[in-house]
Amino acid sequence: MVKAFLIKYSEIGIKGKNRYIFENALRDRVVEKLRNCEGKFLVERENGRIYVEAEGDYDYDEVIGQLTKCFGIAHICPVVLVEDKSFEHVCRQLVDHMEEELGGRTFTFKVFAKRSDKKYERTSPQICQDAGEYILNHMPNAKVDVHHPEVSVHVEIRHRAYVYVTSIKGPGGMPVGTSGKAMLLLSGGIDSPVAGYMMAKRGVQIEAVYFHAPPYTSERAKQKVIDLAGLVSDYAGEIRLHIVNFTDIQMYIYDKCPHDELTIIMRRYMMKIAEEIAGESGCMSLVTGESVGQVASQTMQSLVVTNAVCTMPVFRPVIAFDKQEIIDIAEKINTFETSILPYEDCCTTFVAKHPVTKPELEKIEKSERKLEEKINEMFAKAISERETIVVKK
Ligand code: ATP
Ligand code: MG
Repeated sequence: MVKAFLIKYSEIGIKGKNRYIFENALRDRVVEKLRNCEGKFLVERENGRIYVEAEGDYDYDEVIGQLTKCFGIAHICPVVLVEDKSFEHVCRQLVDHMEEELGGRTFTFKVFAKRSDKKYERTSPQICQDAGEYILNHMPNAKVDVHHPEVSVHVEIRHRAYVYVTSIKGPGGMPVGTSGKAMLLLSGGIDSPVAGYMMAKRGVQIEAVYFHAPPYTSERAKQKVIDLAGLVSDYAGEIRLHIVNFTDIQMYIYDKCPHDELTIIMRRYMMKIAEEIAGESGCMSLVTGESVGQVASQTMQSLVVTNAVCTMPVFRPVIAFDKQEIIDIAEKINTFETSILPYEDCCTTFVAKHPVTKPELEKIEKSERKLEEKINEMFAKAISERETIVVKK
């Protein structure tokens, strides 16, 4: 019976002297994910691998479900632990396991052996040879193919023996927390949750900010964003979500500035506030779900003008994605259904019929000067009165 899992990682294996940082982070992330599962697990890091061992009962599908959302994992191999590691016994357990996994189907295989117990009764090449022979003698549907085997049979001799034949693809990427921290501008739409997920995949810890405009945007719209943050946190780990009341600023811009410039000026203030909170929180960059050409505020010119208020780098992981490509990811990570719930967003509440699509920075800055009297005060108030919650799936 499968009592353990061998976790293989690829990219983090090449990080030279800092390798242990990545390995420890991955171990910590694995421990965190397994906290969501019934049962007790022992997680150990050894020789470029992570071993998870279930102590007592556990739910196999639940464990696989959690580990396939843990960035940094290349493959998850369900392992049978063999306490009595005499070779004959190991082979018997191996064949039992193979029968369970493969049923009666015809297959080609190759045996791979590893031993950290150097006093073991056989060397690695002998294990390969003799285990291969044992399989051939006991499984009539098995055939050896050393070049392109359908089944890779692994035998590892450590303090106990480990045998496995199945390898489940992990999510890849880097363990969250190994690539710094970024502030995600999270709206209730489809794109920004995907953007957050993509950055987390590269090991970036995510913090998020949401601008709402009560009473123009409802509690339900806010709850939707909290729910989306929760869904992203299933991959990204705990997310600190800042909820900023944007109503006063939005109304003030509406009063003072040309309406066709409303969206772009609003977006510049969002970026500015996000950057301020990012700085306070130790984030080094901003992340948005912008995609070039998608809407008026995302033409190249608009992006340039929005970008000009920021000193931090702004990462836009879906910049060159088609909407459908973004939707495909949203569906995969389970945010799509929530994203399409029809609640209003503060961006859409005050939009002009014909927003500028080719804004000029000088002109926009000139319009913004009309806000000079009160905007600094409003800006500081929006930041200091923000609500911060910790979201964890
Ligand atoms: P999304 O689907 O992510 O909402 P969108 O296609 O609706 O994107 P816009 O509304 O133009 O695009 O927003 C572009 C980006 O600006 C969003 O991806 C998000 O990063 C940020 N953003 C927009 N509205 C808000 C908001 N209310 N709070 C926080 N960030 C926002
Ligand atoms: Mg939006």
